Amino acid sequence: MQIENHVFLITGGGSGLGAATARHLVACGGRVVLADVNAATGEALAAELGTAAVFVRTDVTSEADGRAAVATALSAFGRLDGLVNCAGIAPGEKVAGREGPHRLESFARAVNINLIGTFNMLRLAADAMAKQEPGAEGERGVLINTASIAAYDGQIGQAAYAASKAGVAGLTLPVARELARSGIRCVTIAPGIFATPMMEAMPQAVQDSLGATVPFPSRLGRPAEFAALVAHIVENIMLNGEVIRLDGALRMAP
Ligand code: NAD
Repeated sequence: MQIENHVFLITGGGSGLGAATARHLVACGGRVVLADVNAATGEALAAELGTAAVFVRTDVTSEADGRAAVATALSAFGRLDGLVNCAGIAPGEKVAGREGPHRLESFARAVNINLIGTFNMLRLAADAMAKQEPGAEGERGVLINTASIAAYDGQIGQAAYAASKAGVAGLTLPVARELARSGIRCVTIAPGIFATPMMEAMPQAVQDSLGATVPFPSRLGRPAEFAALVAHIVENIMLNGEVIRLDGALRMAP
């Protein structure tokens, strides 16, 4: 699928990886709907991107919000070609005996936003895509999710985050197979450590030492590198049902 003149709904589009993806897709001639629970950042980016972008305040865990976001793509731009699921949270857990990773409330919140929110948006976007006239080779749309290397390599305190992201990785292949007849692909990116507001909350020294653990290149990932992979997935019809690590060969020791 070409990016030019195609329409992409980006959850978490107001910040970090989602914002970089929006900028890149617009630079490639696409149009974007920024769907984020944070209206301040989402509206600011939409204003920066001009007529190629609209913002719709969206909590991905809400079915009504998800429907409204998809409807915004159709009303603003007439179609929906791609969904990029970037909305997510990384709950910081303090590990102290039975506290921390075993707290049910924060575990459920991570699963609700990262996993169920992703699935909620996937199915609503796919429903709209399935009704569209197909493009080349019968393609009707592409669904791109964001997992994490924590899905395979979760660290102490990451039980909730790792479990939610393992779920996102796990749904990729069955969703791709289920939607194949509709000409809709599903691909997931599993980023390593990227310099976004999610990471920039940490002291610079911690960020630098994390970057140094990346075998090559020995630094944190740049959001533009994530965005470039999103663009590649959009354009490469053969990529389907795959979870792609984007981590500089990072394997973290516990
Ligand atoms: P970020 O905090 O900069 O952006 C996340 C965005 O999601 C924010 O704009 C936030 O408002 C939005 N969001 C949170 N909950 C939401 C909800 N319920 N509904 C709608 N929007 C919601 O973080 P980021 O680093 O850009 O992360 C993007 C994705 O990448 C996340 O899923 C994250 O888990 C994943 N990821 C990030 C890294 C990293 O190192 N930065 C690594 C692996 C995976």
